[in-house]
Amino acid sequence: MHIVVCVKQVPDTVEISIDPETHTLIREGVAATLNPFDAWALETAIRIRDERGGCVTALSMGPPQAETVLRQAIALGADDGVLLSDRAFAGADTLATSYTLARAVQALAPVDLVVCGKQAVDGDTAQVGPGIAAHLDWPQICFVKKIYATTSDSLTAERAAESGSEIVTSSLPCVLTVVKDTCRLRFPTLKQQMRARHAEIPIWGAREIGVDPEKCGLNGSPTWVDRIFAPPKRSGGRVVQGDVNALMAAFFEKMEENSLLDEGGGDG
Ligand SMILES: Cc1cc2nc3c(=O)[nH]c(=O)nc-3n(C[C@H](O)[C@H](O)[C@H](O)COP(=O)(O)OP(=O)(O)OC[C@H]3O[C@@H](n4cnc5c(N)ncnc54)[C@H](O)[C@@H]3O)c2cc1C
Repeated sequence: MHIVVCVKQVPDTVEISIDPETHTLIREGVAATLNPFDAWALETAIRIRDERGGCVTALSMGPPQAETVLRQAIALGADDGVLLSDRAFAGADTLATSYTLARAVQALAPVDLVVCGKQAVDGDTAQVGPGIAAHLDWPQICFVKKIYATTSDSLTAERAAESGSEIVTSSLPCVLTVVKDTCRLRFPTLKQQMRARHAEIPIWGAREIGVDPEKCGLNGSPTWVDRIFAPPKRSGGRVVQGDVNALMAAFFEKMEENSLLDEGGGDG
């Protein structure tokens, strides 16, 4: 079974700075790390491979320094890694990112399963996994908490749903997105760290994966960030004390003050 795990390098800080002109994240000079959700995606893939055999390829799109997360993935148990890095990929929104990753999955064929984190902690959209599935025209199971069974042509998983959990079976190939804290993560062994340090990580550009330049990077991004700002701080609430009548009176007074009462009066 060939499993591709998409891993993203994200800023290792809560102090995010935004370029005032391009409205994109300033990544230069900021420590970076593996997106936390992707560590669980990787663990999920490694457990499936260990049970069924095959190999796990870690795949990342980003600047040359994103190679670090691929070595991290190999140290944690991935068999190899591929970096997608090309000027043509810069400025991608989630549509262009998922298109480019999907084309790389096709270039890595045959692939039975793609595993992504539920979301990246910087972009936070949770759109890339489903986007890859759409571009490949493969089924998807999102917010996976647990894998129940994998056969050569199907996978059964429990996914978090709004009001509980669902157990879903999909044919393979398919795409999974995985939530956090579902299982114990492993630590890299010394031997794996040595292997990761010396691993050859191919860097693929637009030509290697045969993408349409109009569909990747800024060219292929129909959305853009217009403005980024911190929302104004909320002022403190007002504590009202007294019996139920006093509380209700204060409540309706506030509703009236904020024009939240229905002018029509309704049925009274
Ligand atoms: C409207 C909009 C405009 C944007 N414009 C720009 C821009 O101009 N320049 C810019 O630098 N960024 C831009 N971004 C950010 C860029 O879209 C995201 O970094 C990228 O598309 C991934 O989206 P996300 O971080 O929300 O990932 P999510 O969808 O939250 O990630 C889910 C999972 O997908 C996988 N994944 C996501 N990204 C990658 C990746 N690069 N490599 C491998 N796996 C990955 C991981 O498994 C991850 O856990 C924009 C985002 C939006 C929403």
